[in-house]
Amino acid sequence: MATEGIDPVTTSDYVRIFDTTLRDGEQSPGATMNVAEKVAIARQLERLNVDVIEAGFAASSDGDFESVRRVAETVTTPIVLSLARTRELDVDRALKAVEGARNPGIHIFIATSDIHLKYKLLMNREEVLTSAVWAVERASKHMSHVEFSCEDASRSDWDYMVSLLREVVAAGATVINLPDTTGHAIPEEYGRMFTYIRERVPGAGKVRWSAHCHNDLGLAVANSLAAIQNGVRQIECTINGIGERAGNTSMEEVVMALRTRKDLFGIESRVETRQIYPASRLLCQVIGWPVPPNKPIVGDNAFAHEAGIHQDGVLKHKLTYEIMKPEEVGIPSNKLVLGKHSGRHAFVDRLGQLGVDAAAIDVNKAFAEFKALCDKKKVVYDDDILALVTEESRRRGDFYELADLSVSSSNSSPPRAEIVMRVGGEERRSAATGDGMVDACYKAIYQLAGVHPVLERYAVKAITGGTDALGEVSCLVRHNGMTVPGQGAHSDIVMASALALINALNRLKSALRRNPEQLGEEGP
Ligand SMILES: [Zn+2]
Repeated sequence: MATEGIDPVTTSDYVRIFDTTLRDGEQSPGATMNVAEKVAIARQLERLNVDVIEAGFAASSDGDFESVRRVAETVTTPIVLSLARTRELDVDRALKAVEGARNPGIHIFIATSDIHLKYKLLMNREEVLTSAVWAVERASKHMSHVEFSCEDASRSDWDYMVSLLREVVAAGATVINLPDTTGHAIPEEYGRMFTYIRERVPGAGKVRWSAHCHNDLGLAVANSLAAIQNGVRQIECTINGIGERAGNTSMEEVVMALRTRKDLFGIESRVETRQIYPASRLLCQVIGWPVPPNKPIVGDNAFAHEAGIHQDGVLKHKLTYEIMKPEEVGIPSNKLVLGKHSGRHAFVDRLGQLGVDAAAIDVNKAFAEFKALCDKKKVVYDDDILALVTEESRRRGDFYELADLSVSSSNSSPPRAEIVMRVGGEERRSAATGDGMVDACYKAIYQLAGVHPVLERYAVKAITGGTDALGEVSCLVRHNGMTVPGQGAHSDIVMASALALINALNRLKSALRRNPEQLGEEGP
């Protein structure tokens, strides 16, 4: 079947980047972010110059609604949208949440695969079509940017999607997404699906086509690139590739593949690539997961040359073994930054280079802490600074706050910890003994908080080298069927441990407050 000649949208000269770190990314277990953290990530996404930010799933909980609303009010350039099912409540909540955005949008989805229809939706194909058209029509009365997704498209019948999308496009959808929700597709096949459907949907040339891939078979980036070669001009992705199960398409990988192989694709994104590394570091700090050293683009080893012959080549000419320059993705060539004699101005400058918005933190307090760290530590690295400001913003407005901690241990008596903590603004004290200083500390904190969650994981990492390094502690606690992470950074490891646990307890507190409606659906 013939297309309507030249396709004005797909031949446009860039690939739109749709970032879903705050929605699909946040759905990965242990990647829960609070509102302030989401706003910080959104600011960095704006610096990255992404085109669309999916800020959450407004109807899923009050907390999600609030996050979408705050992100919508914070950023100016990107389109901010919320996910919504094809239900009245979802559509209306999503529209309401983005009201304050300069460039608002909505993302409506419903599954189209027979397996989802039969076992999850309990609907037939006709009912799904009617529901999709109804929701798109309702949204497009209020919104000019309406994206529609066929959830599980890669396992759906292509001709059924053609008949559904024919109506959905006529109803006013401006972006059509065909996600590989389960990470099941293979590049050639996934790309071919777009060509097949675009050739058969009337008006296909007036909408933008979008790919959304999961990495279950390690093919999310490859599938996204195959989609671009088949006319897709929007890629849905996340920073560091976080997301459900094995994750989503990694933003940095797809952006750098397009840039590095522009000779092949003839098209790029509009991402400010020098903000990639700061974005990756910021997300690691917020969710407390490091990226593996061999992670493309942002891993510690991504630009390291170990083999002698490679080193020799790189020294003679960088391009012998390097297809990209580390500076292009914002990796600082000199990681050693500031010290004792650095002024406030240099500190604020560096924060900017690291992707931290000085307006979003208490700079005076952060600078004072930086100075205190300089006194303890000869060399202060970027990661130390990031840890310090993340720790500062992490603690603000918390229900549980650590006021003081002292520990003692000797050969003749068991380790003992005394804790002073503010609980909802009220100061409380407690003391406990334990198997070690951290154990004693945790017991005292549990007494003060009045909860005894199960500590599932506890890990200590030195952020930068040396015995005077900042220590970062991450933990995972489980309580009432809910699992939440906690992070803390401090030059004293017992202190970092206490901060990590208190951070987890605060997350637990707000997670319980959110009391999420059990959706039973995860989104595309
Ligand atoms: Zn997804």
